[in-house]
Amino acid sequence: MAPRATPSVLSSDEAALRARALRVIPGGMWGHMNVARLPPGYPQFFRQARGCHLFDVAGKDYIDLMCGYGPIVLGYGDPDVEAAVAEQRSRGDLMTGPSECMVELAELVVETIPHADWALFAKNGSDVMTACVTIARAATQRRKVLVAKGSYHGAAPWCTPSLAGVTAEDRAHILHYEYNDVASLERAADEAGRDLAAVLVTAFRHDVKRHQEAPSVAFAQAMRRICDAAGAALVLDDVRAGFRIHLGGSWEPYGVRPDLCAWSKAIANGHPLAAVTGNDRFRQAAQQVYLTGSFWCAATPMAAAVATIKKLGATGAIAKMEAMGGRLRDGLEQQAREFGLPLRQTGPVQMPQIMFEDDADFVLGNRFVLEMLRRGVYMHPWHNMFLSAAHQAADIDRVLEATNEALRLVAQSADRRQPAGAVQ
Ligand code: PMP
Repeated sequence: MAPRATPSVLSSDEAALRARALRVIPGGMWGHMNVARLPPGYPQFFRQARGCHLFDVAGKDYIDLMCGYGPIVLGYGDPDVEAAVAEQRSRGDLMTGPSECMVELAELVVETIPHADWALFAKNGSDVMTACVTIARAATQRRKVLVAKGSYHGAAPWCTPSLAGVTAEDRAHILHYEYNDVASLERAADEAGRDLAAVLVTAFRHDVKRHQEAPSVAFAQAMRRICDAAGAALVLDDVRAGFRIHLGGSWEPYGVRPDLCAWSKAIANGHPLAAVTGNDRFRQAAQQVYLTGSFWCAATPMAAAVATIKKLGATGAIAKMEAMGGRLRDGLEQQAREFGLPLRQTGPVQMPQIMFEDDADFVLGNRFVLEMLRRGVYMHPWHNMFLSAAHQAADIDRVLEATNEALRLVAQSADRRQPAGAVQ
């Protein structure tokens, strides 16, 4: 049987919004959320979200396996988080200074995260990664920063993946190493020599369009050793993985603690907040560096963060996400085996990357995710996905019913490598 061609017809509401957006927004949308980067058929706009469900502007309901690219860790509109937000908002949100809640949040963060002696708050991952670099440079009075080739740390000029508008000077003191390659890390550290301020590392290798990779214990330990020997800061970028792998930080299971850590995404279940945590060696530098933003002290996202972190701890949410992720991985593995498809699943089960082997042009991957979209499951062809504590066993089973159909169609393709949607 030939695969059904996936219609890429947009709903009239979606098409009208796109046309309006194109007139007043560059490209209709900027950055990673521009669906022009995805195979045609993905909705650009959404009307509503609840629990693990996302609704597009035509009212189509999807089980969402992206969770807003990570921030939604307890489910959209979690009642406990939203009650805390409403309560704080009734008293004040953005005020002339921070709320009492900020101190409560900092105390909770320091209590929850073993390496943290202090915390400060901002809005985005890029803000806090940039702050970590600046704090490390201020503390060490050095310039060089080691970054893994291909790792994403944000959209600031020193780290953005697009070189448009970036000068060589913006990157002058950035040196690269290969993730999980101790020898290349050592070479980069040698090159930086006595000017080494910081080594940056993501919780695991979660680069887009690649199978994901856990850090080896030897690599994590080498990071710590090299930073200690050089007097440099080990900076963990836990923006994407934070609060999904381990409440105390994603490298706690490795027994390797960073000096500075950047957090955002899941910290407040979708409310805008980011944090830097650090140890006492970097406290004074964190105080000296000028860090501020008009909205950084708004109180409701901090109330949301207090409620989120407490609920994650009290409900065993991470273990639950792992159980659901395992259910999905096991089910998919069995289906892929039955259909004889080279599906490869990598990364932590609660942050899965699901791609096909030898599918660099994503012909199979795009066909698969479009068939899933038609069946009411929102997946991503080449970015790691995210489960939340709102995904129940029944939701995962519904996803698996859809994958069974979608994988069957991929496997039955007369010519598997013909582009998705092509006329048969
Ligand atoms: N670091 C990592 C590992 C990220 O995944 C991201 C966002 N995807 C960032 C930094 C930047 O965060 P933001 O988009 O909030 O600036």
